[in-house]
Amino acid sequence: MKKITVAKGDGIGPEIMDATLSIIMAAGAQIEIEEIEVGEKVYLSGNTSGIAKESWESIRRNKVFLKAPITTPQGGGYKSLNVTTRKMLGLFSNVRPCSSLYPFVPTKHPNLDMVIIRENEEDLYAGIEHQQTDEVIQCLKLVSRPGCEKIIRYAFEYAKTHGRKKVTCFTKDNIMKQTDGLFHKVFDEIGEEYPDIEKEHWIIDIGAAKMADTPEIFDVIVTLNLYGDVLSDVAAQIAGSVGLAGSANIGEEYAMFEAIHGSAPRIAGQNKANPSGLLHGAIMMLNHLGQNHVAERVHNAWLKTLEDGIHTYDIYREGVSKQKVSTSEFADAIIERLGQVPSQLKPVKYESRNPIHLPAYQRKAAADKALQGVDLFVHWRGEDANELGHILNDLKTEHLQLTMISNRGIKVWPEGFKETFCTDHWRCRFSAEGGSQPSKEEIIKLQELAYHKNLDVIKTENLYQFDGKAAYSLGQGQ
Ligand code: NAD
Repeated sequence: MKKITVAKGDGIGPEIMDATLSIIMAAGAQIEIEEIEVGEKVYLSGNTSGIAKESWESIRRNKVFLKAPITTPQGGGYKSLNVTTRKMLGLFSNVRPCSSLYPFVPTKHPNLDMVIIRENEEDLYAGIEHQQTDEVIQCLKLVSRPGCEKIIRYAFEYAKTHGRKKVTCFTKDNIMKQTDGLFHKVFDEIGEEYPDIEKEHWIIDIGAAKMADTPEIFDVIVTLNLYGDVLSDVAAQIAGSVGLAGSANIGEEYAMFEAIHGSAPRIAGQNKANPSGLLHGAIMMLNHLGQNHVAERVHNAWLKTLEDGIHTYDIYREGVSKQKVSTSEFADAIIERLGQVPSQLKPVKYESRNPIHLPAYQRKAAADKALQGVDLFVHWRGEDANELGHILNDLKTEHLQLTMISNRGIKVWPEGFKETFCTDHWRCRFSAEGGSQPSKEEIIKLQELAYHKNLDVIKTENLYQFDGKAAYSLGQGQ
C-alpha cells in the first residue's frame, strides 16, 4: 500500500478527481490517500503561494502527488502553484503522451502517437523579470548545462525504456545561438550515447508547423520549457481534445501527476466534465508506482468505454457517439468494463519497468574564462544614436572603449540606419582592443565615468570568452 498526496483543486477538480479515484480504486490500486487543500481557497486566505506549509510536508513525505487543476485568482501577486511545485520539488521533466483515438474521437490525424518531454524548470519560466526603463521590460531566459543534460538524457532513456524509435529536438538556435544553441549541442552530445535511436533536430517554427500538419512522423519530442508548454497543448488538441491528456512531472525524488487542462470554472459543479485527462495522469502515476497491471486495466477499460461510444459532452458527436454521459456515469461505465480490452483501438500493455534514474550531474572542468569587455545598458531618452555615441566615446579606460551601441539588439552605432526604431534602452558595448584583457576594475571605472556624465546605467553584462570562444551575441547588423 502506497500513501500518496491528493489535491482535489478548484472548478471541475473535485468532480474529476472523485471520478478518477473511484476508477483506480475499483481497478485495485494499492494506494492510501492523504488529502491536502491547494489553490483558490488557500490563495484567497492570504497565502500567495496557494499551498500551506503542512501540505508541503505531506507531499515531501509521500513523494507522489496527484493534483486536480486549480484556479489562479485574477490579479497580480499570486504565484502559479504549478510552476512553484515543479521547481521546489525539482520536477525537471514534464512528460505528456498524446495519441489519437480515431475514429471514436474525431481528429485529422488518426495515426498520431507521440510523447512530448518538456524541460520544466528553466528557460523563460525562471520567472526573473525586471522593468529597466520607461519603455523596456526584460525577462531572463536561463538555460543551464545540467538542466539540458538532465532533460535530454531523460528523453533518450524514456525512448529506450518505452520502445520508442526516434527523439526529435526542437529549438530556435538559429536566433538564440547561446541558450538554444546549448540545448541543441547537448542533444547532439548525449544522442551519441544512444546509437539505436534515430535523432533529429528541427527549428521550432517549422517543426511546430510540421507537427500540426503531419504529427505521425514524430515519436518522442524533447524541447525547452516554453516551446514544450505550447506544443504539448497543440498536440493534445489535434489528437482530439485537451480534455483527454495527462501529464507527469518527474524529478529525482518526487513526482506530480495531473491533467493538462485547467479548472474549467464555467462547467464546474455540473457533473459534465471529462475526467480523462486526470485519469491519464493517474495511469502514469500507477505506472510510476510499479502498479502496471492496475494502470493497464484502467487504460484498456477507458479505451473500451470510448470505443463503445460512451462519451462526455466535449467529445460527443452525433453518429459516432452512442450515449452522452455525465462525469460520474462515465466513471461508472469505465468501472463496469474493468478487465475488458478494446477490440478496434489498440489495447495497451504496460510492463514493469525500472524507474529512470539519471546519473548525477558531473560538473565539467572549469573553462578558460577571459574577460573581453562589458555591455553597459543605459536608460537614455534621446533619439539619435550618434549623439549617445558621442557622449560615450569620452568614456575610456586603459583597455576599454566604445565599439558598438545597439537598441533592442540591433546595431545603431556606428553606422546605424536612421530608419531603425529606437526605444529608451541602449546596450553600449565596450571592448578591449586586439585581444588584450581588461580588468574588472576597469568596468567599475567605466561605470564611475558614466555616473559622472549623468548617464543612467541600469545594468551591466560582462563579455567573456570561454576556451577562446566569444560567449555573447553580436549586435544584429554588426
Ligand atoms: P481550461 O483548460 O480550464 O478550459 C479551457 C476550455 O476547455 C474550456 O472551454 C473548458 O470548459 C474546456 N475544458 C477543460 N477541461 C475540460 C474537461 N475536463 N472536460 C470538458 N471540457 C473541458 O482553461 P482556462 O479556461 O484558460 O483556465 C481556467 C482556470 O484554470 C484558470 O484559473 C487557469 O489559471 C487554470 N489552469 C490551471 C491549470 C492547472 O492547474 N494545471 C492549467 C491550466 C489552467
